[in-house]
Amino acid sequence: MTIPVIRPWLGEEEAQAAAEAVRSGWVAQGPRVAQFEQAFAEYSAAAEGVAVSSCTTGLHLALHLLGVGPGDEVVVPSFSFIATANAARYVGATQVFADVDPLTGNLTPDTIEAVLTSKTVAVIGVHQGGVPFDVDAIEAVCSKHSLALVHDSACAAGSTYRGKPVSAGASLAAWSFHPRKLLTTGEGGMLTTSDSDWATRLRRLREHGMSVSAADRHTSSGVKLESYDEVGFNFRMTDIQAAIGLVQLAKLPDVIARRRELADRYHKLLPEIDGLRWVSDPEYGTTNYQSFWVVLPDSYEGTVVDVLEGLLARGVSARRGIMAAHLEPAYSRVDLPVTEYLTSRSVILPLFHQMTEAEQDTVVTALAEIVR
Ligand SMILES: *Cc1c(COP(=O)(O)O)cnc(C)c1O
Repeated sequence: MTIPVIRPWLGEEEAQAAAEAVRSGWVAQGPRVAQFEQAFAEYSAAAEGVAVSSCTTGLHLALHLLGVGPGDEVVVPSFSFIATANAARYVGATQVFADVDPLTGNLTPDTIEAVLTSKTVAVIGVHQGGVPFDVDAIEAVCSKHSLALVHDSACAAGSTYRGKPVSAGASLAAWSFHPRKLLTTGEGGMLTTSDSDWATRLRRLREHGMSVSAADRHTSSGVKLESYDEVGFNFRMTDIQAAIGLVQLAKLPDVIARRRELADRYHKLLPEIDGLRWVSDPEYGTTNYQSFWVVLPDSYEGTVVDVLEGLLARGVSARRGIMAAHLEPAYSRVDLPVTEYLTSRSVILPLFHQMTEAEQDTVVTALAEIVR
């Protein structure tokens, strides 16, 4: 039996909720989506939630809403899932990769300022692997240069910044409910925003630009004709997904408490491996430990692939660390020393709700054997 890197925590309750949505006959975007939007916005201390089909479509819609387009540059970390950079391309803009902080894996005011040009209009800040970026510091640099800030909060549901939910009060934040994240609806995502006019426009844009939603037309007693005032998209979430999301959201506090407990235990066990570094809370917030990554000791001469193979041989499934988009053929190379160091020397260790202490001991013993 191999110890998996992550295992979604889904059960009978989610199956029941999905079945009820099917039996209700309303399977596309409807009342459950509205309910999920409200519950998620409340959980994240956001004014409004707008459910979408994924975090990727959420980021696309956010840049579209801001009017970002051809000729514009959007600063993004390369040290992220590739969807962050792709979002800039979807609207015809150019992504400009900035380097990250070696401890948090996140953009900093300095790394952003190093790549600004007269064409820069926006920054996508990523709370990478659940570790919050320094929101106040990055907001300050964005307002100094009149740049829009979009939070890529894909990994960060349940993380905190200065005592509040991460991205609380953000003008735009995009979240993911892919099974690799801590709250899943299969596929799915959400935009949260502090601006109710934006929320209204986002709701139209995700539904073909329709002035009256299909759900509103259905529940109206009279005839309601819709109009299409601008070109929109089909980025809708389904009520089946939202039904699952509502159950998952209720479980999230338990999931995070358990992850933080297991992460604490890793923090106690890992110091036995000389020179190893690991992810932990930054001074200004807390992570949900969506990814528990370690950076290999400099003294270890093998590669990340050697470590992954060694772990697999010992019954442990791990993953390479966060990818670097600028090293992929879809993009072009630039000089990002910290990103390249982190991506070439880090490994994501197993961490899942049902993980036992014995499994965790196996992981640490295996890693120690390999890198020592
Ligand atoms: C997972 C992830 C995404 C993409 O999320 P989807 O919901 O799968 O589109 C975007 N950005 C980051 C940082 C992610 O980790």
